[in-house]
Amino acid sequence: MNDHSQLDSQFAWHTLAVPQTLERLETNAQIGLTLQQVSARQAQFGPNEIQETGGRTPLEILIDQFTNVMLLMLIAVAFVSGILDIQDGDFPKDAIAIFLIVILNGVLGYLQESRAEKALAALKNMASPLVRVIRDGKTQEIAAKELVPGDVMLLEAGVQVSADGRVIEASSLQIREAALTGESNAVTKQVTLTLPENTSLGDRLNLVYQGTEVILGRAKVVVTKTGMNTELGRIAAMIQGVESEPTPLQQRMTQLGNVLVTGSLILVAFVVIGGTLVNQSAFRDLLEISLSMAVAVVPEGLPAVITVTLALGTQRMVKRNALIRKLPAVETLGSVSTICSDKTGTLTQNKMVVQRVQTASYSLRVTGEGYEPLGEFKIENPSPSGNGHAPGIASEQLQNDPEVRSLLLTCVLCNDAQLQEEKQQWTILGDPTEGALLALAAKGQLEQKKLTRQMPRVGEFPFSSETKRMSTICQQPSSEGAYAMYTKGSPELTINRCTQIQQGAEIKPLTAEKRKEILNQNDLMAAQGLRVLGFAYKPLTDVFPADTSQQEAEQQLVWLGLVGMLDAPRPEVRAAVAKCRQAGIRPVMITGDHPLTAKAIASDLGIAQSGDRVLIGQELEQLSQPELEQQVERVSVYARVSPEHKLRIVKALQSRGQFVAMTGDGVNDAPALKQADIGIAMGITGTDVSKEASDMVLLDDNFATIVAATEEGRVVYSNIRRFIKYILGSNIGEVLTIASAPLLLPVADVPLTPLQILWMNLVTDGFPALALAVEPPEPDVMKTPPNSPRESIFARGLGLYMVRIGIIFAILTITLMGWSYDHATKNYNEILQPDRWKTMVFTTLCIAQMGHAIAVRSKTRLTIEVNPFSNPYVLGAVVITTILQLMLIYVEPLRNFFGTQVIDGLELLVCLGFSVLMFVWIELEKLFVRWYKSRKKA
Ligand code: ATP
Repeated sequence: MNDHSQLDSQFAWHTLAVPQTLERLETNAQIGLTLQQVSARQAQFGPNEIQETGGRTPLEILIDQFTNVMLLMLIAVAFVSGILDIQDGDFPKDAIAIFLIVILNGVLGYLQESRAEKALAALKNMASPLVRVIRDGKTQEIAAKELVPGDVMLLEAGVQVSADGRVIEASSLQIREAALTGESNAVTKQVTLTLPENTSLGDRLNLVYQGTEVILGRAKVVVTKTGMNTELGRIAAMIQGVESEPTPLQQRMTQLGNVLVTGSLILVAFVVIGGTLVNQSAFRDLLEISLSMAVAVVPEGLPAVITVTLALGTQRMVKRNALIRKLPAVETLGSVSTICSDKTGTLTQNKMVVQRVQTASYSLRVTGEGYEPLGEFKIENPSPSGNGHAPGIASEQLQNDPEVRSLLLTCVLCNDAQLQEEKQQWTILGDPTEGALLALAAKGQLEQKKLTRQMPRVGEFPFSSETKRMSTICQQPSSEGAYAMYTKGSPELTINRCTQIQQGAEIKPLTAEKRKEILNQNDLMAAQGLRVLGFAYKPLTDVFPADTSQQEAEQQLVWLGLVGMLDAPRPEVRAAVAKCRQAGIRPVMITGDHPLTAKAIASDLGIAQSGDRVLIGQELEQLSQPELEQQVERVSVYARVSPEHKLRIVKALQSRGQFVAMTGDGVNDAPALKQADIGIAMGITGTDVSKEASDMVLLDDNFATIVAATEEGRVVYSNIRRFIKYILGSNIGEVLTIASAPLLLPVADVPLTPLQILWMNLVTDGFPALALAVEPPEPDVMKTPPNSPRESIFARGLGLYMVRIGIIFAILTITLMGWSYDHATKNYNEILQPDRWKTMVFTTLCIAQMGHAIAVRSKTRLTIEVNPFSNPYVLGAVVITTILQLMLIYVEPLRNFFGTQVIDGLELLVCLGFSVLMFVWIELEKLFVRWYKSRKKA
């Protein structure tokens, strides 16, 4: 291999036949590579990864920090302030400090953002697909990135191909290559071809490509190219750094920044131009006031706090088994108003146990639990048209009855699962529905290994959610004829293909009356919440010609009977459904199962309520999209639907203004998952294709996890709103205080320097804001209806709150400013101890924010009603920030740097007194709202 390795990245593998391919790759179709070969090749070829060109480089992340319009304005302020100071012969302290803080803010933002990007990359890794390979003669699952050329990879329907490869064995292998060729129709792959070198990508029918999707069938493939050498890798290398989309919240924040900057620039222009027109000599003072206002209006710490909040949100969600694949989902999950969920595995446990069997002559109850092949067949009551066996008949005798035996045989031969015993625990490998059928057959002493050896499978029509059935063609033991086809699937569809029925050892015509009776039995079982499958078979003299369709093959079958299995609801789902309803979220069941089965389980779980409709796939097909939109809000169960119906359902719900979360696991669910506002894939049973299309992956496949993630989404969003309220309220207070100083005081002086404002916005606001980001949920978080994802950041009173609290802040500080200016000029020598009043204003603004931080924790509950230790970070931040603020006044170097003055005990007390009023005001507001609401109710 080493001698051709130079060539391999470009080698045209489609020109080689299978044996030459294996030889060139020095591998073996049965044994795969040895572990030594694997490690040598891993060293040679590196990991099988596509290097992301979409992500930003560290330098780009750093530069992005400084392209923010608010930071640019600060830089401009620093320049002007520096020039003013130098003109005056002063050291440009403010300018340097602003620069430093701009840089610090940039670096902090950089660290947080690159951490968030890394965390997201790590999450992606967790969701990265596993691949089944043969190495050292053993089948094993490895991470896709460990694949090397020469690995023998096993593909089946639903997986995404993880490397380029040559097909060496295939059964009905169909692959969708839209990701590479844009062709959405699936391509059937073939083993025996060798193709000319210039064959185009789409026509290389003996190769499979990384990133394409297996739609149907199974195959064994030898890996030829990995990582950036694959066709997908080549395309990825060609695409230049695609910008990653900003999330809705980032967009809102940019908008907010623009509004604030524009607003402050207008204000600055107004103050400077207007003020100078009135009094030309005040230009310098006014300019300084304007600079401070410009600094005050910008919430410098906000972007960093938001980034941290989202990153923490994804971590909390992952702890609750919800893996976020796309960051905006964290913010928008809280807005979900309808959850469309699959039934099997998500609402139910997906642990099937067969409970009933119905053949032409018998109605049987099957005992036993789980997949353990221990249990008995008991006659419930003889079928009315049956041969009248007495109920006392023994279990073994029943198993050997020809009609029961034929049905059990079909259970085994038309089956892709395997029953296994490990440490006395019976488990299944494969689909639980099929596992339950194997357990049933084993209870009837039919052993899978032996039968599949005696009657090897020579052909198949695999199961799909569209056809809702599958068939296999198996060779027969010589005495019984050449071949037989075994079919199982949805009873209505399977019986439609039958013309005869087996009764005892005889084959009889299937009369219309009998057909009706069977469908009634099916309905009776389904109404008990059982999942029912129908069984049939047909003797064949020969295998079908290669191009026979499933439709053509499954004709004139012999009906064998029905099997009903119980798939119990997940115990936690009932409570989750109730929580949804309280939270104004409507749960909807979408299933491929029988309408009565679906209805029984939906009613049991509280999903279907009186007056709700069940809509069947066939009915849905008859409806136009506008008609479906009319009905969609009354339907809580969709049954016997195909994946393409899901897309129509999502669209109809969205057109009614719903914000839809939709689950899916199959390949064909991908379009619906993409269309849904929150596409949710199953972590355990989901196909790679569905995961790739999703916003979120349920690590435990559980409906209750969706509800938990929605709750976390609401908590994240409400915390973001909470600290925006907190931060911007103070910004508005600062601006108003600064603007009012020249109006109210006899001097046109700036109460706060840009440096002090930066300190407030970054440190004294920043710390408590970070603490508020981890505020636990309010008790009513899942008791209020969802909020629109499109609502403005100022919606639901937030804008009003900010302005109101900003004004209260300003009134308090301005009153204090009046008092302290008066007090300072009367009692102190302005030359020896200048600007004491300014330090008092600065201190009051900072400390008042501490009261605000404590009070803003709850919108409705008074502070004494909130456990102070339920978020100890707020208390911690308040204590630390207060100490830091006092250090700025009482530690000399800091005092000199920040331009503060020592204030005495009385002055400090006055500051504290005014600050407490802020807290009192917010608490009074809560009391007022409470009183107002109770009066309205009365
Ligand atoms: P959900 O969409 O909620 O997961 P589901 O699992 O019932 O529901 P599908 O897996 O699409 O949906 O199955 C649809 C129908 O196809 C089932 O009701 C059953 O009748 C039939 N079916 C399911 N699994 C098999 C199988 N392995 N072989 C044959 N028929 C099957």
